[in-house]
Amino acid sequence: MTASESAQATGTIRLNHWIGGTSVAPSGGGYIEIVSPLSGKASIEVADGNAADVDAAVKVATSAADAWRHFNSAERGRLMLELARAIRKNNKELAQLEHQDAGKPMALALAEVEGSAAYFEFYGSLVYLPVGDVLDVAPDQHVYTRREPYGVIGIITPWNLPLNQAARAVAPALVTGNVVVVKPSEITSQSTIKLAQLAEEVGFPVGVINVVLGTGLDVGAKIVAHDDVRKVAFTGSVAVGQAIGQIAAERIIPLTLELGGKSANIVFEDADLDVAAVEAVRGFTINAGQVCSAGTRLLVQRSIYDGFLEKVAEATNAIVPGENLGPIITPSQFKRVQSYFQVAKDDGARTLVGGEIAEVAGSEEGFYVKPTIYADVDNSMRIAQEEIFGPVLVVIPFDTEEDATRIANDSAYGLICSVWSRDISRAMRVADRVEAGQIFINVWNTMSVQTPFGGHKHSGYGREKGIEAIHHYSHIKTVTVKY
Ligand code: NAD
Repeated sequence: MTASESAQATGTIRLNHWIGGTSVAPSGGGYIEIVSPLSGKASIEVADGNAADVDAAVKVATSAADAWRHFNSAERGRLMLELARAIRKNNKELAQLEHQDAGKPMALALAEVEGSAAYFEFYGSLVYLPVGDVLDVAPDQHVYTRREPYGVIGIITPWNLPLNQAARAVAPALVTGNVVVVKPSEITSQSTIKLAQLAEEVGFPVGVINVVLGTGLDVGAKIVAHDDVRKVAFTGSVAVGQAIGQIAAERIIPLTLELGGKSANIVFEDADLDVAAVEAVRGFTINAGQVCSAGTRLLVQRSIYDGFLEKVAEATNAIVPGENLGPIITPSQFKRVQSYFQVAKDDGARTLVGGEIAEVAGSEEGFYVKPTIYADVDNSMRIAQEEIFGPVLVVIPFDTEEDATRIANDSAYGLICSVWSRDISRAMRVADRVEAGQIFINVWNTMSVQTPFGGHKHSGYGREKGIEAIHHYSHIKTVTVKY
């Protein structure tokens, strides 16, 4: 029986593309069966899109592009604010979709939905910003610049914060006058479809937001390669970022790449150790460690090493899988996290907490692991260098400020870093020297829609969020008038 026949037989929910304001079945007729991380059982089926579906979506988007580009800007801003309201009004349903698809606890899902509304609110208010400058070039010339949209933007998102990451790219793309074709992860497609439906309910013109579902190769790569897609915003793994980068280089289109991380949390001996311990645990267990900006390398000054680790272990023991720790997203990722438990053993790391799968009553087939800490780790070990994408922390001792900075920078990644010290001059020196897009001093990862976000090195390039993102979703035209 094909996936589609079995769905008809069992009454399983089946999700179609959203193209030109309607639900569109995949042209190939196939659906992908998705397994719930909560139960380990088949949950929904999503359209298995292909190049023809991508082409249909890009055509619809292209035909909507000119009208949207010239839409009254105040009205465009009002629509964005209406969409923010609609997201809030439907927050429970949207959070429930995230819970079902990604297994995340409802409280976390609700917070991510609120963050998604905030993107539309923030960017909706930016329509009143100037869109260019007047340049004093010569007495007989009037020279001005103006920011213009690219046209059709492809947006490809991962599964770890599905709605939030879609909103993070869709909102700045739309406010600058672009139209979008979005491809969510096939594992977590429901909330992005709902977002597109809400947009049309509040009055966005048909074709401004289109969503094509399916796999990375059959849909994602086809979006990047499509002649009429003028920019791509990608959030996901380094390997896929590199593959997309090659297609984009060939086509000479700009990319925003938001990729992985192996972020350092540096704790000096004079820090508020109680707060730093609790935040270090939040940093590696939030969303079961499946966050690009997770603080998965804990660098602790040797003079406080043993006592601080006791605090961290105690706070970790309060994290209970199935209660305040969700599952790992897929069977393959579940296996991958477990394979690192073996790597840690082989490399001789000391297991402080966890290091095994977790049994959750009522979810015996779910993909749960215990929050895990490895101590006395050398930064050259694989568990210190590779992104595991699970609730796994490695602890590395250091002696001096220079050591801490060197170890933090000894990574292919450069996404975020937290520094804990009451000596603010020292903390700021470290902030200056660490290669990462975001540094937090005496706080962990308090990001808002206003703060530009992005990586150094293999964590990517371009910036999302903040006014900065406007520069990545529009390009400058210079007009010179001689008089
Ligand atoms: P992934 O790279 O496997 O997939 C991301 C998206 O790309 C999915 O929609 C997928 O279907 C699509 N895709 C896969 N292969 C493709 C291809 N060849 N061409 C075009 N599209 C393709 O990542 P994932 O496993 O879904 O997410 C986890 C990764 O995302 C981690 O590395 C994490 O650090 C990263 N991430 C980064 C950020 C950030 O803002 N920097 C945020 C969240 C997640």
